Amino acid sequence: MLMLLPGPVQTRPEVRAVMAEDIAPWDDEFRAEYAAMRPRIVKVAGGVEGEHVSLPLPGCGHMVVEAAIRTFVPAGGRLLVVQNGGYADRLARLATEAGRIVVPLHHPDNEPCPPAKLEAALAANPEVTHVAVVVSETGTGIVNDPAVLGPVIRAAGRRLICDAVSGFAALPFRIADHPECDVVVFTSNKCLEGLPGFGFAVAPIARLEQCAGNAGSWVMDLHDVYRHALRDGWGSFRFTPAVQALRAFRVAMDLYDAEGGQPARLARYSRNRDVLYDGLQALGFRPYVARENQGPIIVVVHQPDHPNWDFARFLRGMKARGVIVSNHFTTKAPTMRVGCIGAVDADDLRFALAQMDATLQEMGIRHRAAA
Ligand SMILES: *Cc1c(COP(=O)(O)O)cnc(C)c1O
Repeated sequence: MLMLLPGPVQTRPEVRAVMAEDIAPWDDEFRAEYAAMRPRIVKVAGGVEGEHVSLPLPGCGHMVVEAAIRTFVPAGGRLLVVQNGGYADRLARLATEAGRIVVPLHHPDNEPCPPAKLEAALAANPEVTHVAVVVSETGTGIVNDPAVLGPVIRAAGRRLICDAVSGFAALPFRIADHPECDVVVFTSNKCLEGLPGFGFAVAPIARLEQCAGNAGSWVMDLHDVYRHALRDGWGSFRFTPAVQALRAFRVAMDLYDAEGGQPARLARYSRNRDVLYDGLQALGFRPYVARENQGPIIVVVHQPDHPNWDFARFLRGMKARGVIVSNHFTTKAPTMRVGCIGAVDADDLRFALAQMDATLQEMGIRHRAAA
């Protein structure tokens, strides 16, 4: 099966193979393996060993996003959320339900938030201490670039919380270049092409040390993850982890390095995006995002306005032909999301487009001229 989702993504067989083994997470050998992974994770985030620290948290991406908010924004604190998409809406809900006060900065979901708009919002809200940015908005495929928004946050003396989940390790980001950044979060199963099961935060130690007692949760307290490592060692866990997923992630990081790291991955996903963006239009699909705002992680198109269109039937037809695309959308208008990420290349996407063509024909939907 070819999986074209914005997570979990298609993985390589070498990554999946290591999941087949029983592993004792508290065993000395695995402890050493885990301890050795932690500085590598700091490095992928562009952190500096001794200044930044990696804080793995078993679970899904939303968990580590919530943990980051709880740990760095004190209860009752004010967090401005750059809200231009479905994942930003989710972040705002996580923060609100965790008792943080969300100041929304709404912007249309088909383009990045302009820096001047953020600057004005921060000037108007002096009590806001933190800004949360979803870098690659997985609902639409746009990118809010920390290289553009970060300097505004820094100049205003506020702190950045970076939900980098969907584009991390493909889009360039070095936390060491962003002194305004309190924390960047990502997971094992998106552009790093591991299996689902772990979230990761990378944070400056100096900031983390000021955050004891903020979380209001033991499980989701990243400061406690740090304190535990200092006390029991960098290879130790607080609770039973998704240990197979962690070892698979180590193999995924080996493959990431072997491919050439971030620039190579960005290049491959960008090619995938170009093939998809053009190919979907050739099939008559209308893109949700204009080409100049289209990021390399996910392409979103409008569902066809055709009497024979039936999304569930289209998905069944695709699956029968060996391709899974997302059955979920977050936009107001009905859309379809196709991932560019994972262990897939341009040929895989050409194959997927051919299957879409066949499925549309089977449904009696004739090609329309490209938009
Ligand atoms: C995938 C994703 C998450 C986390 O999703 P989970 O299903 O909880 O792993 C968070 N933010 C963004 C932007 C994402 O793309």
